[in-house]
Amino acid sequence: MNVILLGYPGSGKGTQAKVLAQKFGLFHVSTGDIFREELAKKTPLGQEVAGYLSAGRLVPDKLVLEVLKTRLATETRGLLFDGFPRTVEQAEGLDSWLDSRSMAVDAVIFINVPEAEVAKRLGDRRTCLGCGKIYNMGTRPPAKADACDVCAKKLITREDDKPEVIIRRLQVYRDQTEPLLAYYRASGNFNEVDGGRNPESVAADIAGMLKGK
Ligand code: AMP
Repeated sequence: MNVILLGYPGSGKGTQAKVLAQKFGLFHVSTGDIFREELAKKTPLGQEVAGYLSAGRLVPDKLVLEVLKTRLATETRGLLFDGFPRTVEQAEGLDSWLDSRSMAVDAVIFINVPEAEVAKRLGDRRTCLGCGKIYNMGTRPPAKADACDVCAKKLITREDDKPEVIIRRLQVYRDQTEPLLAYYRASGNFNEVDGGRNPESVAADIAGMLKGK
């Protein structure tokens, strides 16, 4: 089963992907996490993508597709995409890559959250430097202000969760990613979930949509 999670930055794709990957035995593919890892390790790829990430702009399609194909070449589990595809060109690239391996996208889940709500969530978001757990300082704060409940490592505000970059990322979503909704609505396996609720209810709904796929 190959699944795509779609939605604004801050709509809960990362949070949901962690739960669903575990529940369904899928391999969680987050292109944002891949780029941040490369950046932290200061690899040539990390240096190449740094400027895009800090500005809240999209990494060029060709590069994103190359990185993914390399990373997924030997993966045999079903794939759960979070933050990819982000453009129609990436979606077409994914379709043809899956097709060449006799696979397809089995479900697309659009996590629908209004823009004003995601803007607030991104501003309130803190991410654990150790295990990647995501906190919301307003609705889901950690027990200790700066430390992860799970691994006790430091919580940080992502560089691109700063206010001026948030505005750019929302604009980029509207311009370049939102057209994907029409692309996938036409595909027949499009599902929409109300992402404005607590993460457990959203996860339960998505799990129901994926059962039997
Ligand atoms: P995310 O963690 O998914 O919000 O991604 C963080 C940043 O990584 C984005 O703002 C982009 O700069 C870059 N990025 C992640 N995924 C993609 C993608 N599929 N296409 C282009 N850029 C991406």
